Amino acid sequence: MAHVISDECIACGVCQSECPVDAISEGDIYVIDPDLCTDCGACADVCPVGAPQAE
Ligand code: SF4
Ligand code: SF4
Repeated sequence: MAHVISDECIACGVCQSECPVDAISEGDIYVIDPDLCTDCGACADVCPVGAPQAE
């Protein structure tokens, strides 16, 4: 399982440095690589708009 970033993302970038496996890529909205994500939830904890969600 992996977390997925929803359209709510405002591309603030806060989550990217929090990911222990470097699974988050920059973009118009940020994107999580499902092959790398370990579902730890760290990105969801720091996101101001709750965009990363467990699938
Ligand atoms: Fe990275 Fe954890 Fe978020 Fe997955 S859930 S993208 S491993 S911070
Ligand atoms: Fe998008 Fe939330 Fe990450 Fe900011 S912290 S880039 S709003 S997913």
